[in-house]
Amino acid sequence: MASTKTAAAANNALFPQLVTPLPGPRAKAVVERDEAIMSPSYTRDYPLVIERGEGCMVWDADGNRFLDLAAGIAVCATGHSHPHVVKAITEQASRFLHMSGTDFYYEVQVRLAERLAAHAPIAGAKRVFFSNSGAEAIECALKLARHYRGPQVLAFTGSFHGRTMGALSLTASKSIQRKGFAPFLAGIVHANYGQKVEDIENFILKKYVDERAFSAVFVEPIQGEGGYIVPCKEWMAGIRDLCNRWGALMIVDEVQSGMGRTGKMFAIEHFGVEPDIICTAKGIASGLPLGAVIARAEIMNWGPGQHASTFGGNPVACAAANATLDLLEESLMDNARVVGEHLIARLEEVCDHTPWLIGARGKGLMVAVDAIDRKGKGSPAIRQKIIDAMYHRGLLVLPCGAHSIRFCPPLCLTKEQADFAADTLAEICATLEG
Ligand code: PLP
Repeated sequence: MASTKTAAAANNALFPQLVTPLPGPRAKAVVERDEAIMSPSYTRDYPLVIERGEGCMVWDADGNRFLDLAAGIAVCATGHSHPHVVKAITEQASRFLHMSGTDFYYEVQVRLAERLAAHAPIAGAKRVFFSNSGAEAIECALKLARHYRGPQVLAFTGSFHGRTMGALSLTASKSIQRKGFAPFLAGIVHANYGQKVEDIENFILKKYVDERAFSAVFVEPIQGEGGYIVPCKEWMAGIRDLCNRWGALMIVDEVQSGMGRTGKMFAIEHFGVEPDIICTAKGIASGLPLGAVIARAEIMNWGPGQHASTFGGNPVACAAANATLDLLEESLMDNARVVGEHLIARLEEVCDHTPWLIGARGKGLMVAVDAIDRKGKGSPAIRQKIIDAMYHRGLLVLPCGAHSIRFCPPLCLTKEQADFAADTLAEICATLEG
C-alpha cells in the first residue's frame, strides 16, 4: 500500500510552492538582460522566467513552482513536456529534422493532414495546408478567399487574427496592435461581434460590398484575445446563412479555440455549424510551431507554387502534433470538458461572493471572468491587481479583452487544481481594496 505521506507529497507537487520572494534574484537578472536586448513590443504582465515545466506545473529560474493556467497562451495543450510528445519529437529528430514538405514528401505530415481532416466538421473531401503559426494560417485562408472569389471580406470588432499585415488587417482587438501600421489590406470591413445578422447585411454588406468580390467572413467561434466571448448558437447559424446568401466562405479562426481546448476538437462544433475553412495553430503541436488550414477540397484548389512555406509542416512539429492528437483523442479533450465545467461552476461561486468579479463563462478550458470596480464598471486596474496577486501566490493567468482574466491551462488540469485556482482567487478578492 502506498503510504499516505507519499500520496500527499505527490499531490502537493500539483500545487504551487514559492521558495523566494518574487521575482527571485535569478529571474530578476534574466529580466534585466531581456529588457536591454529584446523587442519592446512584447507584452509581459509579470516577471516569470521559466526554467522547466511538467504537466500543469512550471518552475522558475529560482526554483519557485507555479500552477500554469496560461499554457504559453493556450499552447501547451497536453501539459508541459508530456513524455509521449517528447518521445515523438525525439524519435523524429533522430531520423530527420527537415526536408521541406513543399518540395518533398514525408509520411508524418500526410498522416497529420488525414487525421485533422477526419476531425474537421466539414463534409466531403478536404485538403490541408501547414504553416508555422496562427497568423500564417490566417494569411493562407485570406489568399484562398481571394483566389476563390475576390478581395472583399468581413471580419469582426474585438477579433484577433494575428499581426502579419494580412492578418492584422482583419484584427480589430486593440488599437495599439494597428497603430502606426496603416495602410491595411483594402476590402476588409468590420461588423460588431454578435451584431444582429440582419443589421450586418443591411448596414454594412449592402452599403460597402461588391457581391462579385465578397469572398469570405472570418470569425472566431469564441472570441479569444477580444475577451473570451461566447456568442449564441443562433448568431453563428445566422453567419452561416449570411455566407450562403452571399456566396461567401465561412472561415473560422480556431487558432486559440481549436484542438480540444473547448472540450470538442473544434469550438465551431458547439454551434452545429459547418464552416468552409478552419484555421488552427497554438495547441496543435503542444508547443512546437505549427499551424494548419483545413478547407473544402474544391476551395483549396490552387496550383503548384501559389502558396507554400519552407518550414510549414516541419516533420518534428508534425510528429509532435500527431502525438498531441493521440492524447486529445485518448482523454484530454474529455478532461477539458469535465474540468472546464467544474472550473466555470467554481468561478461562478467566486463571482457570487465578491464585488470584484462577474461573468464566469467559457467552454471547456477556455474560461474567463471580468474584473469590475465598485460601480460595476469593467476595470483593467482591478484586473491587474488580481493578476499580480495570483502570480505572487504561484498562479499564472493572463488578461484578455479590456478587463477579463482568462484561464487557458493545459488540458490535463485536474479538478483539485481548478478548485485551488478558484479558492485562491476568492481569497485574493477578499483582500482587495478598490
Ligand atoms: N488567431 C487567433 C484567434 C489568435 O488567438 C491568435 C494568437 O493569439 C492568432 C490568430 C495569431 O496566432 P500567432 O500568434 O501564432 O501568429
